Amino acid sequence: MSRLAQNVRFAWQRATGSERPCDHVDQIRVGPTDAMSCPACVASGDSWRALRVCAICGEIGCCDSSKNRHAHRHAEGCGHLLVRSAEAGEDWVWCYADARIVARSEGRTSE
Ligand SMILES: [Zn+2]
Ligand SMILES: [Zn+2]
Ligand SMILES: [Zn+2]
Repeated sequence: MSRLAQNVRFAWQRATGSERPCDHVDQIRVGPTDAMSCPACVASGDSWRALRVCAICGEIGCCDSSKNRHAHRHAEGCGHLLVRSAEAGEDWVWCYADARIVARSEGRTSE
């Protein structure tokens, strides 16, 4: 198991307490992004409320409170069920299948 996966697993334990593990956490591949816009919304001239990034492939989308819900559409279309917040100051991963936050980083440990 990679060091990253260990960190994710540890973060999951802190995020969910005694709840049943999310089976998808091992699929997390994408770290925090500095994306500033939802490309699909920009292309269609729409606005969005909060940015999300697919935690599996890095596709940028917008949150479920946004008009177009591009992140959720990507999850359904591609079967990528994990989405990470791309908002500044937020670092958590939501699982659409489990309908809850399944991983959260609480500060980075220096190497
Ligand atoms: Zn899950
Ligand atoms: Zn969008
Ligand atoms: Zn994806």
